[in-house]
Amino acid sequence: MTKHIGDLPPALESSGDLNARMAGKRLAVFLDYDGTLTPIVARPELAVMADGMRTVIRNLADRCSVCIVSGRDRPDVENLVGIDNLIFAGSHGFDIASPDGRAIQKEQGAEFAGLLQDVITRLHEIMDPIGGALIEPKKASVAAHYRLVAEDQKHKVKDVVDEILAANPNSLKVTPGKMVWEIQPKIDWDKGKAVLYLLNALGLDTDDVVPMYVGDDVTDEHAFEALSGRGINIFVGDLADPEVGERSTAADYICKDQDEVGRFLDSLAR
Ligand SMILES: [Mg+2]
Repeated sequence: MTKHIGDLPPALESSGDLNARMAGKRLAVFLDYDGTLTPIVARPELAVMADGMRTVIRNLADRCSVCIVSGRDRPDVENLVGIDNLIFAGSHGFDIASPDGRAIQKEQGAEFAGLLQDVITRLHEIMDPIGGALIEPKKASVAAHYRLVAEDQKHKVKDVVDEILAANPNSLKVTPGKMVWEIQPKIDWDKGKAVLYLLNALGLDTDDVVPMYVGDDVTDEHAFEALSGRGINIFVGDLADPEVGERSTAADYICKDQDEVGRFLDSLAR
């Protein structure tokens, strides 16, 4: 069911409802990384998780399955999180593996590597002269960041992304994020598909399991929608943030920042 973000009840004040939904069931927790476990920062490499959050997630992973589902490349987010006993789905779920590489391995979209290389080349031609523009090549996508670009130049990044999409309407799609355009192979795979795949692969696709997804961005809505009605969806964001705005969501509850996410996940670990 779609609601306004502004109408979501705070997760930290909803323990009665939440406990009722989780009573007698096992929890499977799926966590986005950037903006969910860390604050949004100016450059992707600066998004470092606080030690307190790491402790909370480590404790939670002792209690239930915890999966990190990120837009980052899997080795990148594995490094940043730095906890062994988690499942990691990188590249918006295009690339899934367990820490030891055994339990789950799934790669989607590898055949698009050549096309993505062409995209990177074209982005460099247009974006290299734009101050603050940042191209982030990933394993299964290319991110064109414009957070640090001057306001009157931002349209140039949008224009080249539109041009690339127009030239490859059947093979590429774009997902907008927070001051970033993410160009991805146009295949039927997203964070929601990844979460459903993981539930099945982990043997957690059963009535006695309550899946929970925690995320902050537009791409996380796919996961919220996939779990809508059966799981518990937590949106992370401050209503005062203009990037959160008035958009609609399939989430059930809200945490306004990383402090609230940490306290909420800590409450689950007890
Ligand atoms: Mg995020």
